[in-house]
Amino acid sequence: MLRAVDVIGRKRDGEQVDVAELSWLVGGFLDGTVTEGQMAAFLMAGVLRGFSSAEARALTDVLVASGEQLDLSSLSGPTVDKHSTGGVSDATTLLVAPLLATAGAKLVKLSGRGLGHTGGTLDKLESIPGFRTGLDPDEMLRIAEEVGCVVAAQTQRLVPADKALYALRDVTGTVASTALIASSVMSKKLAAGAGTIVLDVKAGGGAFMKETAAAAELAELCVAIGREAGRRCAAIVSAMDQPLGRSVGNALEVAEAVELLAAAPQGRLAEVALELASLALVEARAVGGGHAAVPAAAGKGQAAPATAAGEDRAAGAGGEEAAAVGEELRQAWMSGAVLETLARMIVAQGGDGSVCERPRDVLPAAPVVREVVTERAGSVAAVPALPIGELAAGLGAGRSRQSDEIDPAVGIELRVEVGDIVDAGTVLALVHARDEASAQHACQRLGELVTWGEDVATPPTVLRRIGGG
Ligand code: URA
Repeated sequence: MLRAVDVIGRKRDGEQVDVAELSWLVGGFLDGTVTEGQMAAFLMAGVLRGFSSAEARALTDVLVASGEQLDLSSLSGPTVDKHSTGGVSDATTLLVAPLLATAGAKLVKLSGRGLGHTGGTLDKLESIPGFRTGLDPDEMLRIAEEVGCVVAAQTQRLVPADKALYALRDVTGTVASTALIASSVMSKKLAAGAGTIVLDVKAGGGAFMKETAAAAELAELCVAIGREAGRRCAAIVSAMDQPLGRSVGNALEVAEAVELLAAAPQGRLAEVALELASLALVEARAVGGGHAAVPAAAGKGQAAPATAAGEDRAAGAGGEEAAAVGEELRQAWMSGAVLETLARMIVAQGGDGSVCERPRDVLPAAPVVREVVTERAGSVAAVPALPIGELAAGLGAGRSRQSDEIDPAVGIELRVEVGDIVDAGTVLALVHARDEASAQHACQRLGELVTWGEDVATPPTVLRRIGGG
């Protein structure tokens, strides 16, 4: 007969535990026969001694089996899902979901709320008047079939063991383990049922993983877990030293995504979105699932620019096919079809679709907007993601506890990024605040946070690719 104390002792001594033992331990933790203290001791022993990739895969299986799984088999076309490990100004889902849907894939994305300095996709979408994220599985499937994409709140019935385990890890210093993070992330993705999964693992000061090598290790383990479970899986590691987009704050990020889709793809947010969508389509099409033709670019009178993202893909693992898919997606973006798909998803989820025509009129606006102006000329050396995310959260855009209310209207709009050369008198940022005092505080702090250097190079955004052709 298994005893928790023996399993803990073996982990403490650096041994591996098998699926049966993990299953027994997690099951016992959920039904109360293994105490919180025992589970915490086991987790800490694993964090200190290390979990093997076999243990990460076994734990993933145990977590998935703890709840229901979404059945996407009724959907026509390849099913695709994406996940980001969390960053600042990361509205890529608002771009990737309609990009993939426009290209004929079906995306059912279960998302979470923001906590700490990172924003949550649900919070962003809920800043759109009327938008509903609490959908039941039938409604999710109906919208995914009709529109091609749907973004909803994760239900309590999916992977309940991860929720319980994460809550314990959060208060016992046991979050920081590549194996535990990979099994937590991948259990939710596997239970959500898509045939193809793409991951954006962030690296840098505003991310869980500060170092690129550690982020790549996490990305590789996630991809291995996904593939072993029979899914197509690929990942990128992307930089999270500065906010990905220009806006930090819920309604501001929706406005940025809409304005980006209404114009030509440019900047780091568009680059990451196109990269993820291309990876996902290359993987999904390799399965042989059907896909609709993407309408050719029309009506805007502009040629699609060859972006850095496209060039990277061509040189990367996916080669010519990836480059062709990237170009196809850029054409769809330029034609306005991707923005139309986003509008259809918003309407299908109860939201005001005119947000895609007049985002700044439809979205909630903060009463106080103040400029941060620099008195010096120079080259921008750092726009640090973590303190800027915390500053926006402090304005009311984020939460420090799950139960906190957020203010959808407040936040920060950055006007500069690392490598920009600016003159004295340039506006560095706009602060959108509830009142004058918080606006003044944020303006002063932003002036301190942006730092200066000599001839600072523009840093790369996509740092690694794993899989994708
Ligand atoms: N995100 C997750 O979903 N799980 C973790 O363990 C860490 C980040």
